[in-house]
Amino acid sequence: DTPTPKELLARAKDENVRFLRLQFTDILGVNKNVEVPASQFGKALAGDIMFDGSSIEGFVRVEESDMLLKPDLTTFQVLPWSDPEARVARVICDVAMPDGQPFAGDPRGVLKRQLERARAMGYTMMAGMEAEFFLFRAGPDGGTSTTTHDVGGYFDLAPVDRGEDARRAMVDMLEQMGFEVEAAHHEVAHAQHEIDFRYADALRTADNIATFRLVVKHVAQQFGLVASFMPKPIFGQNGSGMHTHQSLFRDGKNAFFDEKAEWQLSKTALHYIGGQLRHARGMCAVTNPLVNSYKRLVPGYEAPVNVAWSMRNRSPMIRVPERRGAGTRVELRVPDPAANPYLALAVMLAAGLDGIESQADWREPVNQNIWEMSYRERRRLRIDDLPHDLNEACDELEKDDVMQAALGDHVTENYLAAKRQEWREYITQVTAWELEQYLAKY
Ligand code: GLN
Ligand code: MG
Ligand code: MG
Ligand code: MG
Repeated sequence: DTPTPKELLARAKDENVRFLRLQFTDILGVNKNVEVPASQFGKALAGDIMFDGSSIEGFVRVEESDMLLKPDLTTFQVLPWSDPEARVARVICDVAMPDGQPFAGDPRGVLKRQLERARAMGYTMMAGMEAEFFLFRAGPDGGTSTTTHDVGGYFDLAPVDRGEDARRAMVDMLEQMGFEVEAAHHEVAHAQHEIDFRYADALRTADNIATFRLVVKHVAQQFGLVASFMPKPIFGQNGSGMHTHQSLFRDGKNAFFDEKAEWQLSKTALHYIGGQLRHARGMCAVTNPLVNSYKRLVPGYEAPVNVAWSMRNRSPMIRVPERRGAGTRVELRVPDPAANPYLALAVMLAAGLDGIESQADWREPVNQNIWEMSYRERRRLRIDDLPHDLNEACDELEKDDVMQAALGDHVTENYLAAKRQEWREYITQVTAWELEQYLAKY
């Protein structure tokens, strides 16, 4: 049940809200917002606020720069950390052209298009994302560092550093914002954490991830820490993933569950898995968007390296957790938390739906540890590698029409241009590793 603008105006007045942030993300997944004072609330809630989109990454050319922000009124939220005397609220927006038509470059619109496609096939997508992150001490100038005094590990109990207190404050803040937090724990690497909140329909989950990143960063700062969702900040330690649990519901029932089938997985589930395997290499540029993302996808750090699935093993990219019935789901372990959650869910869903439509082959699950297999053994089982770097991932996206269609021409073009540029910049750097290896030797 969506509140009306009138109800929200009354609520804003009651709760002392003086500023409203109109929030959206650019194609790279960076949170953007336009803030308006109370006098503009009526106009803002009616979707009548214009902004200049030309300065936003991958948005529009200068000559067509005026964009409208169309708020999703269900996402209205008073920010609990704002001044009680002058509260700030936010609402998540769709981006529209001046004539009101959805803007092709809006990531939230891209996801909505895929959800619409699923709906036409009778499905609702549910998703839960486990976004891991690091908490580092802020540098002396308030900037970032990778320093930590934390020596904690997976599920460690002792409060080894301010990170534990910060995490608890994050959970508290998230709950005040209506999140149902299911678990919070220290992760495997030093200073690495995870907070899991309840799954929801895919659009809500993407919105939640955008909000989650904001809350985590904000609270960290209050504790003199810097939160980072960079996929692999420390060489030699686990990186941060954003494992994504996915299921399709049909007529209120989980369409992945079939009590009588092998593994109790329906054909729908198996074709969905087949689709994700087929497009795994094509979707990586979106689910793993940074140069740094591919430094996480290496053997030995609980991150996937190969295109395969398994019932329990954690080395392949897809795992099917034990849960059945309404909780039947596939867990894609590839994405990392630097991904734009809207685009990431859109390509995952598009891959799965393509699998269903074409009745894709899912092959057999691989229940051995793939990291320990020889190259020949992997070839025999037709197990591909995930892309090894961002450039390869871009090549793969460029070969995958289904992934491109999911993103649409505007996003595909701008996204690839930005990522190729990022790669070119990176590849011309002379790194500390190279100096160490080559300077004296040659
Ligand atoms: N950090 C691991 C990754 O990169 C996951 C670890 C875990 O959740 N068990 O995906
Ligand atoms: Mg987890
Ligand atoms: Mg984890
Ligand atoms: Mg997981």
